[in-house]
Amino acid sequence: MKTTIKRIGVLTSGGDAPGMNAALRAVVRSAAFYSIECVGIYQGYQGLIDNKVKLMNARSVNNIINKGGTVLKSARCLEFRTKEGRKTAFETVQKNGIEALVVIGGDGSFTGAMIFQSEFNIPVIGIPGTIDNDIFGTSHTIGYDTALNTVIEAIDKIRDTAISHNRLFFVEVMGRDAGHIALNTGIGAGAEEVLIPEEDMGLDRLLESLKRSEKSGKSSSIVVVAEGDKTGKNVFEIAEYVEKNMPYYDVRVSVLGHMQRGGSPSCFDRVLASRMGVYAVEALLEGKSNMMVGMIKEEMTLSPLEKAIKGKSEINKDLIRVSDILTI
Ligand code: ADP
Repeated sequence: MKTTIKRIGVLTSGGDAPGMNAALRAVVRSAAFYSIECVGIYQGYQGLIDNKVKLMNARSVNNIINKGGTVLKSARCLEFRTKEGRKTAFETVQKNGIEALVVIGGDGSFTGAMIFQSEFNIPVIGIPGTIDNDIFGTSHTIGYDTALNTVIEAIDKIRDTAISHNRLFFVEVMGRDAGHIALNTGIGAGAEEVLIPEEDMGLDRLLESLKRSEKSGKSSSIVVVAEGDKTGKNVFEIAEYVEKNMPYYDVRVSVLGHMQRGGSPSCFDRVLASRMGVYAVEALLEGKSNMMVGMIKEEMTLSPLEKAIKGKSEINKDLIRVSDILTI
């Protein structure tokens, strides 16, 4: 190992995601493995400003690998966006002898981490934790797989009632900027159409497609709509438009909302979070900074935080093709 870091800090920030606890556990345990100390910082950057920290050891993270949310808690901290706030945060860093930081969060958290690093020269490594999978430099973010499974389970249940009543359901799922959740769950749950921010289908094409299906003998349908889709103003407007033009259908809207963030992490997310946590600590000990841990083709990777924030995690075009073929 290249550095002589003796104490690191770890925090979870921004939107919470299932598997953040597994990542925290991996960071704390790896620190113990390499005989360095690890300080848990509560409520993201807010905890740095308010000096809410706790020294953790390998036993502090017992029985959390299976838990959703984050035991460190998360926060959206406005003060950290100001220079004054970050100065106070750095005082906490100094007071507690923290020599490097692991930040578990999304692109907002990484932006904050990069600015903090540039102002105070403290090494930082990011771990991508967000259900949206909208971070460049990793095929999967922590929490994404669990969210997919949660959504699939919910849509399967909605399908039962859709079939029983000849209903057309519009199911809104999370994804303000990215359609990964919508596209994958749309295919997985056998949806009729998938509306994502990356492609503007247009209301008329949607209507055409639904009418075609209806003519071919479908009596109920499910359309998965990503939160950030631009086909209508929102899912309710789309539903209203379709109902007006297809009055024989009983049209319903279901917004899945925050349930998509919760729940026990899937095995995939637990393994991913464990690998990323170990890799993050090892990267710090190798003297790396301003990087994000990712997974590409099953291998752990490091890429600059700046790329992770600015790059776009592209939608898989083949999934769109497959979805189009299967909804004939
Ligand atoms: P996420 O990490 O899930 O994208 P946010 O965008 O809410 O979530 O970011 C989490 C936190 O990161 C913010 O509450 C803020 O404290 C910090 N942050 C985000 N952007 C900046 C910025 N430009 N400068 C400083 N801190 C920032």
